[in-house]
Amino acid sequence: VTAFLCDYAWLPDGIRHDVVLEVSSDGRISSVSPVSSAGAGAVRLPGLTVPGFANAHSHAFHRALRGRTHHDRGTFWTWRDLMYAVADRLDPDSYYRLARAVYAEMAMAGVTCVGEFHYLHHAPGGVRYADPNAMGEALIAAAADAGIRITLLDTLYLQAGVDGAPLAGPQLRFGDGSLDGWASRVSALTAAPHALIGAAIHSVRAVPADALAKFSSAGPVEALDGPVHAHVSEQVAENEACRAFYGCTPVELLARHGILGPDFSAVHATHLTGSDIELLSGSTACFCPTTERDLGDGIGPARRLADSGVRLTLGSDSHAVIDPLEETRALELNERLAARTRGHFTQEELLRAATVDGHRSLGWDDAGSLAVGMRTDLVSLSLESVRTAGIELSGVLMAATAADITHVVVDGRVVVAEGRHIGVDAARELTETVCALF
Ligand SMILES: [Zn+2]
Repeated sequence: VTAFLCDYAWLPDGIRHDVVLEVSSDGRISSVSPVSSAGAGAVRLPGLTVPGFANAHSHAFHRALRGRTHHDRGTFWTWRDLMYAVADRLDPDSYYRLARAVYAEMAMAGVTCVGEFHYLHHAPGGVRYADPNAMGEALIAAAADAGIRITLLDTLYLQAGVDGAPLAGPQLRFGDGSLDGWASRVSALTAAPHALIGAAIHSVRAVPADALAKFSSAGPVEALDGPVHAHVSEQVAENEACRAFYGCTPVELLARHGILGPDFSAVHATHLTGSDIELLSGSTACFCPTTERDLGDGIGPARRLADSGVRLTLGSDSHAVIDPLEETRALELNERLAARTRGHFTQEELLRAATVDGHRSLGWDDAGSLAVGMRTDLVSLSLESVRTAGIELSGVLMAATAADITHVVVDGRVVVAEGRHIGVDAARELTETVCALF
């Protein structure tokens, strides 16, 4: 495909009618022009085309839990016990198949790049696979075969509790024994045209302060040349444990050890102090609203973070729902619930969080807007469904769902057409791979 003809396109300066996006051989947008200049062979994209969404926080295997954690009213422990049980059952082959189906579901929901916060590294009991990166490489292959880009955020996970309690049971698969063990394994991972290697600190619970200090000073971050993410203050109990052991908040602990900065994303950032919000200025906060409501985490201070100079991004995390449109409007709607007033984010701010800031937080600075030189990541939304019929185009983020997405283009290649993934029968493969785990 060398050109796409959009009925409507959401360009950086607003929504325009009849727009032609020409694509160069490297998959980038080479021109944006009115329809009169359309060449032969252009693919028509009906409805409203927006930039591809970045899913900035994913644990692919959690998708297997969807619709299975409601028994006994669905406590946190109903969820956590099943999550560990599933974690114990996957191997590189089964994880590849599950992740390919999950990433295909994401593609159908308009995700063109995923940030995979990956901690299921080793075989049961912590036994190393012949290739110690077999699980991470399975995820990179799964993303390629689902047609989306991936930033593999290879996760450092060393202990079970903030007090240094050792890993046990299913958690043994997550651990590399030491920061050096983790760094040497990760250094064998290689990037690909569709894949970047980044790093994650699971949380201040799972990584002790001395490892945080070495993490930032010893240079594994520079060696990886990718972003760094960490779960931060998702639940009050995590803050209390951190305060009891270190005498400070998780954000303060990360700041003290040089982890914060422009390449850093604090995932969740739900229970923050005023000082935490100031410290995070210049970093990114990744909100995962559908997971945060599923787990009863709370509502983070999105507007205060944005006002403090923190970029906001969105992720589907546990995949209780995979719908970037739902995550995006929840940024505004959750703020309304918390503040009991309307009117916190403009539609442009919401789109920015879902697209350009999300891709940037995953190390892809050249994705997320429909402008010359950017990657050709396109998502077309039907304006003829019962959900979108009659709306103002600029209100699409408040009205559409993933079910309204008809076409998805990643790096200039059509991945979803007429609502169907071109290479993966996602629903069938999800059924097969999920049911095989139970
Ligand atoms: Zn997470």
